[in-house]
Amino acid sequence: MSFTSLGLSDALLKAINKKGYTNPTPIQQKAIPLILERKDVLASAQTGSGKTAGFALPILQILNSGQPLRHRPVRTLILTPTRELAAQVEDEFREYSKFLDLRSTVIFGGVNANPQIRTLRQGVDILVATPGRLLDLENQGVLSLAKVEILVLDEADRMLDMGFLRDIKKILALMPSKRQNLLFSATFSKEIKQLAGSFLHHPVMVEATPVNTTAEKVDQIVYRTDKGKKTELVIKLISEGNWQQVLVFTRTKHGANKLSQKLEKAGIRSAAIHGNKSQGARTKALAGFKSGKVAVLVATDIAARGLDIPLLPHVINYELPNIPEDYVHRIGRTGRAGASGEAISIVSVDEYEYVQGIEKLLGEKLESEVIPGFEPTESLKEVLDKKAENKAQHQKGRSSTQKKKPTKGRGFHKRGR
Ligand code: AMP
Repeated sequence: MSFTSLGLSDALLKAINKKGYTNPTPIQQKAIPLILERKDVLASAQTGSGKTAGFALPILQILNSGQPLRHRPVRTLILTPTRELAAQVEDEFREYSKFLDLRSTVIFGGVNANPQIRTLRQGVDILVATPGRLLDLENQGVLSLAKVEILVLDEADRMLDMGFLRDIKKILALMPSKRQNLLFSATFSKEIKQLAGSFLHHPVMVEATPVNTTAEKVDQIVYRTDKGKKTELVIKLISEGNWQQVLVFTRTKHGANKLSQKLEKAGIRSAAIHGNKSQGARTKALAGFKSGKVAVLVATDIAARGLDIPLLPHVINYELPNIPEDYVHRIGRTGRAGASGEAISIVSVDEYEYVQGIEKLLGEKLESEVIPGFEPTESLKEVLDKKAENKAQHQKGRSSTQKKKPTKGRGFHKRGR
C-alpha cells in the first residue's frame, strides 16, 4: 500500500516524500482513512509504530480542507504525558505541514511560560501540550479550548500512570462536546478502557501490533548475574561490542546518576535523563545522544517515555521494572519502523519474579543465558537480607538528620522537665 492510496493531499505527500518515508506503517494504513472519515478511534500502538504520523497526517488534511478561522483558535489539541514527547509530536506536525498554511505550537512545564504565551496570543491551529501547563495557561485566560474540533490523547496509558486522570477530566470539560476523539495507548488496562468509554463516541478499534506483545524484530535476551556484577557486565557488553548508541534503564533516578558516572569513569560517554533533571539538561542529554556525542543514555521509565530515537540498536535493562507493561514500553525503543534491535535484561536473583511476570504478559519465555565470569552466586535470601539492611541504614540516616534539624517557630514548645 502507498501513501497516495490513503487519500492524502499533494502537499502532505510532498512532505512525506521529503521525510523519506516510502510506505505507510500498519497503524498508518489503518488509522489514516478512519480519521479522515471523522471517526473516533481507539488505537493500540506503541512508540516506534509510526503512530504520530498516523494521526498527524489526517488531522492536517482535515484542518487544511476548510478556511483558517479568524484569530486562529486552537482547533486540535494533542495531550501527551511528557515534555519530550510533546516536543517530538509538535516537531512532526511542523514537518508534515511544511507546505500548508497551518500553525502549531507546543507548551509544557519546567520552562519559562512567556514565549509560549506570546506564540499562543498570535493564534495556533494545532496545540500540543502536557496537562499541567495547559491548565495553567487556560486558567490565566491565555488560551481557550472552546473551538477544539479534534482531541488526541497520546500514550494515554502513561498519562494515567503519571496521575493525570483528574487533569484530563478537567481538560475534557473545557472543550465542546461535539468533536472527534482519538486515543492512542500501548496497553489497555481496565482504567484505560473506562477512560475511553467516558468520552469516545462509537470508537473504531485499531491495532498495529497485537496488544501487549513486543515487536517481533526485537531480539530479547536475559543475562543472569549478581547485583554487584551488573555494572561491570554493562561496561563489558558496551565496550566489547563497541556499541555507539545504547539506552540503559534503571529503576531509580539515583541509580541512573550513579550508573552514568561509573560508565563515564570506564571511558564510556554517558548521560543520565530523569525527572529531577531540569528541562534544559534533559534536552541537552537527548540531543547529545541523538547526535552521537553521547553513546549511552541512562534513563528512568518516565523520563524515557516517548523519546523519539530513530533506529536504536540496543536497549539494556540494568534493572527490570516491576510493572511488566513497562518492559514492553522500554523495549519498544528498539526495532523501530522496520529496523531491527536487541533488548538485553541484566537480571539478579531478586528479579526472577519480574521475568515471570513479563513472560506471562508476553505469552512467551525469554531466552536466558549466563556470561562466563559473571555467573550468579547470590541466593535470594542473601540479596533480600542485604536490601533490608540497606533500607534500615538509610532510614536510620534519615531519622538522625531529622533529629538534628533545628525546630522551626518561636519556642512555643513545651519544655521537658
Ligand atoms: P512514532 O511511533 O510516531 O514515534 O514514530 C517512530 C519513528 O518512525 C519516527 O522516527 C518517525 O519519523 C518514523 N516513521 C513514521 N512513519 C514512517 C514511515 N511510514 N516510514 C518510515 N518511518 C516512519
